[in-house]
Amino acid sequence: MTEQKATNIVWHQGSVTRADREKINGHKACTVWLTGLSGSGKSTIAVDLEKRLWERGVKTYILDGDNIRHGLNKNLGFSPEDRTENIRRIGEVAKLFTDAGVVALTAFISPYRADRDQVRKIMGDGDFVEVHVDCPVEVCEQRDVKGLYKKARAGEIKEFTGISAPYEAPTKPELTINTAGQTVAESSQQILAYLEQKGIVPRA
Ligand code: ADP
Repeated sequence: MTEQKATNIVWHQGSVTRADREKINGHKACTVWLTGLSGSGKSTIAVDLEKRLWERGVKTYILDGDNIRHGLNKNLGFSPEDRTENIRRIGEVAKLFTDAGVVALTAFISPYRADRDQVRKIMGDGDFVEVHVDCPVEVCEQRDVKGLYKKARAGEIKEFTGISAPYEAPTKPELTINTAGQTVAESSQQILAYLEQKGIVPRA
């Protein structure tokens, strides 16, 4: 856990609550946290799912690994400590989006169970929907969407998850999606059905 440096700071409560925001939006808020190997399908699913939610009038926002590393987390690399800090910051941002009444979709490898559990801990009950985007490393490597597995095999990328760095699969995710055995549409549909069932978004 990162220590708090500042003292004498007090939480300031606004007059518009999350419940007010959810009411005006016509749906509840949460964070759909996609975790899985590089190339497992996190970004693809986030984009497809967002489109489907958007068509229903659901307010969404995607937090995507590479994009966040261009800005907020540009000072972080891929060491275990930096990966932990990366996820801590993203967790805090996702929490803010959720508080803003939005369905936040996050697409980060987030390989360490303890880091994901820490995000779960800072979020409200039911706000953290952990989705294991499950795909065998062989299939991810075959897809090699960004050519990263090839580089990792050649030793050009150190600490590459699934090859030379660990991936700790969730033990009790809200959902597991097997992207090697189903289409992108089926994967999104599975998450959508969960969000409907939990009353987070209205049924179509
Ligand atoms: P990640 O964000 O996890 O690194 P990407 O979404 O960038 O992965 O790449 C996943 C690749 O796998 C894409 O080329 C996508 O078209 C393909 N794919 C095949 N089946 C699926 C599926 N069911 N869900 C998501 N992606 C899939």
